[in-house]
Amino acid sequence: MVSIEEAQRTILEQITQLETEKVSVFQGLNRVTPEDHIAPWDIPAADNSAMDGFAFCHAGVVENRLKVTGFLPAGEVHEQQVPAGEAIRIMTGAPIPPGCDTVVPIEDVEENGDWIRLPVVKAGTHVRKRGEDIALGDVVIPVGSLLRPQEIGMLSAMGGTSLAVYRRARVAILSTGDELLEPGSTPMPGKLINSNSYSLAAQVLDAGGDPVLLGIAADTLEATCDKIRAGLNADMLVITGGVSVGDRDFVKAAIEEMGGQVNFWKVNMKPGKPLAFAMLDGKPIFALPGNPVAAMVSFELFVRPSILKAMGHRRIFRPVVKAVLQEPAKNKGNRPHLVRGIVSVHENSYCVSTTGNQSSGRLSSLILGNGLMKLAPESSLAAGEEAEVILLDRGFEMGCSGDGAF
Ligand code: AMP
Ligand code: MG
Repeated sequence: MVSIEEAQRTILEQITQLETEKVSVFQGLNRVTPEDHIAPWDIPAADNSAMDGFAFCHAGVVENRLKVTGFLPAGEVHEQQVPAGEAIRIMTGAPIPPGCDTVVPIEDVEENGDWIRLPVVKAGTHVRKRGEDIALGDVVIPVGSLLRPQEIGMLSAMGGTSLAVYRRARVAILSTGDELLEPGSTPMPGKLINSNSYSLAAQVLDAGGDPVLLGIAADTLEATCDKIRAGLNADMLVITGGVSVGDRDFVKAAIEEMGGQVNFWKVNMKPGKPLAFAMLDGKPIFALPGNPVAAMVSFELFVRPSILKAMGHRRIFRPVVKAVLQEPAKNKGNRPHLVRGIVSVHENSYCVSTTGNQSSGRLSSLILGNGLMKLAPESSLAAGEEAEVILLDRGFEMGCSGDGAF
């Protein structure tokens, strides 16, 4: 039996980065840059006004009065030198006219015809300096950065219209089992509906990948080989079911039949234990358990980080936090238990309670939850003690309560 970490390490060592492609800046959202982005100019390009107000030379003020001799809206330039004692009415964003060094906001002055009376103003106030945001030559977005809305804005500010990003991973998904029917069918004795293809495809999409649904393989060696062959057109293949040692489990045999080297492990975890990983024609193949919860949890631990690595991400694992148990929690078994938990934030600390019945066939135990609590083998924690929790919901990644309240 191998540990979760050992299985992750062995798998991730074999995952290589995909090629890059050129996309429009906007389509770069949630993708990763394979290169540094360097500022082609200063931002802002010139000293400019941070307020609607009056620009003037601070040293030239006499008796707190200035004569207003011009108007400068954003988008225009005032080229003539402004003499001492004079002011230009200036709008936010307009470049500071030559001779001026300070701006006083409109609401702070007393206006009287062409004249204004100033309050006490410090030299240089309300002026945004050239290059104070970004200076020419700065590495603004380093290689390996995830492009979020703020990076998209910055790339646009630097004049970009297209850029290179790592390509999305195409991930083929195959369900196996004679008992499976596709959604839309009516349940029949002995049959059940294939939900794994869709939960796994959604997990692929959620990780930024591009799922390719291969449907269901019947429980025969030939049918399994045919579907795996089709899956090799993608960048990776995820198979669910048929991976144990039952009489109708053909996944491992099919991969070997086709020349794949199979790492077959019993991973020391609950839910999920059987896991096969193979490289076939240079493509990673993940064979996950058929059990719906085990399939999704195994995807979280082994497939998601692999997709993220292939797509150039630096941070490939979910955040893990310490959370205070709201109820006692016990693991009587001899494998680490990933208990589906409900995580919330109270008074600046994470709290966690379990989603109730933890049977690994119950998809509802995942629906109620937003985290996976790690319970060591043969351990028993009292309410109030801390447990480590893997945060699955995006809202929790930044440590917020998700209710929008400050
Ligand atoms: P297996 O690993 O093939 O023995 O499958 C274990 C159990 O997982 C099966 O008996 C089904 O109840 C369930 N299962 C397998 N594949 C799927 C699937 N695609 N969707 C939903 N449940 C599945
Ligand atoms: Mg099966």
